[in-house]
Amino acid sequence: MCIQNTETHKGRKMAFIIDGKKISSEIKDELKEKVAEYKKNGIEITLAVIQVGNDPASTVYVGNKKKACEYIGIRSLSYELEENISERELLDLIEELNGRKDVNGILVQLPLPKHIDEDLVIKTIAPEKDVDGFHPQSVGALSIGQEGFVSCTPAGIIQLLKRSNIEIEGKECVVIGRSNIVGKPISLLMLRENGTVTICHSRTKDLKEVTKRADILIVAIGKPKFVTREYVKEGAVVIDVGIHRNAENKLCGDVDFDDVEPIVSAITPVPGGVGPMTIAMLMYNCVSSVELKK
Ligand code: NAD
Repeated sequence: MCIQNTETHKGRKMAFIIDGKKISSEIKDELKEKVAEYKKNGIEITLAVIQVGNDPASTVYVGNKKKACEYIGIRSLSYELEENISERELLDLIEELNGRKDVNGILVQLPLPKHIDEDLVIKTIAPEKDVDGFHPQSVGALSIGQEGFVSCTPAGIIQLLKRSNIEIEGKECVVIGRSNIVGKPISLLMLRENGTVTICHSRTKDLKEVTKRADILIVAIGKPKFVTREYVKEGAVVIDVGIHRNAENKLCGDVDFDDVEPIVSAITPVPGGVGPMTIAMLMYNCVSSVELKK
C-alpha cells in the first residue's frame, strides 16, 4: 500500500482522507480541456437528460448534472416529462434520441414511476449512448473485459483509489453489497485491476470475519453507520458509498466514520468522498462517447 498516515493529531496517526471533491474537480477540469479541443475540431458533445415527474431528489440530481455539463462545455438537452406519461411515449422519445446524430449520450433519471418498466427503458437506450452504463450490453462488456461504458459510481471509486496512489493489484478487496449499480460492477472493476475480490451481501455468514480480511473494504450496503471498527482490519483502506440524511438533515455514510477513521490508513468521508465522483464520471463517459463513436 502506498498510503502512509503520517499526519498526527493529539499524538495519534490520522488516516489519509480521500478527497473526492478535489479529485472530481481535477477530472472535470481535464475534461473541460478535452472538450475545448474537440470544439476546435468542430466536435460538439450533447447529453440528453430525461426526467419523468418532479421528485425533488431527482430534480436536484438532474440540476447538478446539467450544471456539470455547462461547466465542462457539454450541451445538455432537457426533457421534463409528466409523471403520468405512458411507457410508450417515453420509449418513443428514447428511440428518437437514439437516431439523432447530434446526441452522444442519453440519461434517464431513475427511479421512474411504477407504471414504467425501468429495465425496458434501460434496454431501449442505444448501448453507444448509454452513458450511465446500465444497459445489459454495457454490463456484459464490463464482465468480459470489452470496451463499453462503465457505470459512474463504481468507475469513480477506481479513480479515487488510483489518484490517491492506492494499489489494488494483489490486494484483498471486500465489497459489501451486490446491487447492479454499485456492488456488482465495483467487484468486476476491482477484479479487472487484479484485486482478489470477495462480495458480501445480506445472506453472508460471519460478515465481520470476512470484512476484516480486507486490505480495501468497499461498503455499499445502504444502512447508515453500519460498519464500525469491528468490521475493519487495522490499516485498511475504506471506501464508503452510502449516503443518508439523519434527523438533523446532516449527511452520513454506511460507515461510522468517527469510529473507523482512527484505525485505518485511508478512508472516504461523507459528504465529499464517493458522491462527487459519480457526476464527474458521467461527464467522463459523455466525453469518451466521442472516442467510442469512432
Ligand atoms: P441496495 O439497497 O440496492 O443494495 C444494498 C446491498 O447491501 C444489497 O446487495 C444487500 O444484499 C446488501 N446488504 C443489505 N443488508 C446487509 C447486511 N446486513 N449484511 C450484508 N449485506 C447487506 O443499495 P445500492 O443501490 O447499492 O446503494 C448502497 C448505498 O450507496 C446507498 O446508501 C445509496 O444511497 C448509496 N449510493 C451512493 C451513490 C453515490 O453516488 N455516492 C450511488 C449509488 C448508491
